[in-house]
Amino acid sequence: MKVGSRLSAVVLAALLLLSSCRTAGPQTAAIFAMDTVMDFTVYGGAQTLADAEARVRELETLFSVTSEESELSALNRSGGGTVSAETAALIPAALALCERTGGALDITVYPVVRAWGFTAGEHRVPSGEELAALSAAVDYRGVSVKGNAVTLAQGAEIDLGGVAKGYTADRLTEQLRAAGVESALLNLGGNVQAIGKKPNGDDWRVAIRDPQSESNVAVLAVSNRAVVTSGGYERFFERDGVTYHHIIDPATGCPAKSGLLSVTVVAESGLLADALSTALYVMGLDRAAEHWRAYRDFEAVFVDENGTIFLTEGLQSRFTPVSRGAAVEVIRL
Ligand code: ADP
Ligand code: MG
Repeated sequence: MKVGSRLSAVVLAALLLLSSCRTAGPQTAAIFAMDTVMDFTVYGGAQTLADAEARVRELETLFSVTSEESELSALNRSGGGTVSAETAALIPAALALCERTGGALDITVYPVVRAWGFTAGEHRVPSGEELAALSAAVDYRGVSVKGNAVTLAQGAEIDLGGVAKGYTADRLTEQLRAAGVESALLNLGGNVQAIGKKPNGDDWRVAIRDPQSESNVAVLAVSNRAVVTSGGYERFFERDGVTYHHIIDPATGCPAKSGLLSVTVVAESGLLADALSTALYVMGLDRAAEHWRAYRDFEAVFVDENGTIFLTEGLQSRFTPVSRGAAVEVIRL
């Protein structure tokens, strides 16, 4: 064998190795969007990650309540108008979930969220009078959608913060699948979307944070599911020794005090999981368990103020606590 051909054999082997790595290895991206850090891991497809990022940016331009230029901000300023097909799809879907949760989720909660200084602005504790006045205008039933025309009741403003990331995750899942992707893990800041399984055939493993520390309380093994966590520990501020967080009970205008520290919802739909994680947090454990028994289209993990973990029975085989000594209770039908 001549030196030249030996060299070209080595080069060929190296190229093969390189190209096989390229097809087998994931594409990853970390981007800041929708006020959070998003991490995408996608196996297969060349242009898919760039397309996914572009899609996130596109939806952010529509749904952001903190950007004055968003379509939603324009709608809130004018009290009504014609919106894009995308917004005209999300608002009615979100309204249906407000109805389903008996108003525990209420997308017209924005004036109250703003008064507390969440999203934009300085954190503050509004007076009882101020909250009573603002809460009076919170009612998702005052939003009407006919085709692309949306009308808001007097004083009402929409905040899609409780549902937008879930909706976005569903759209990304659709787009990646259409591009031929069969395996991906999308983390949209606490909203995880597991597409297919890992390339080696194992389930994806999604950790549930301990609301009271930096570590995790449990790991869920899932495939083709959204895993969405809402917790008061994600966004909060302290005043005079009291902690105020960003999940509002629409009935009181105050941060929900339901005895829960976090709610993780597992469902096929990212939108459903996102909406329910917020709503079940407001409802508290007993009402949330009743909701699960009534619908059975999701599973959930709850962490309460005592650190006890409750999981709906459908998750038993998918759930591993991080600590052997953890107090775990199963919610049954
Ligand atoms: P995160 O955005 O931290 O992932 P959530 O999905 O639970 O958490 O959404 C909380 C956001 O939704 C808040 O920041 C606020 O903008 C909005 N929000 C708060 N309370 C409610 C509520 N009861 N119904 C609908 N939206 C809410
Ligand atoms: Mg939510």
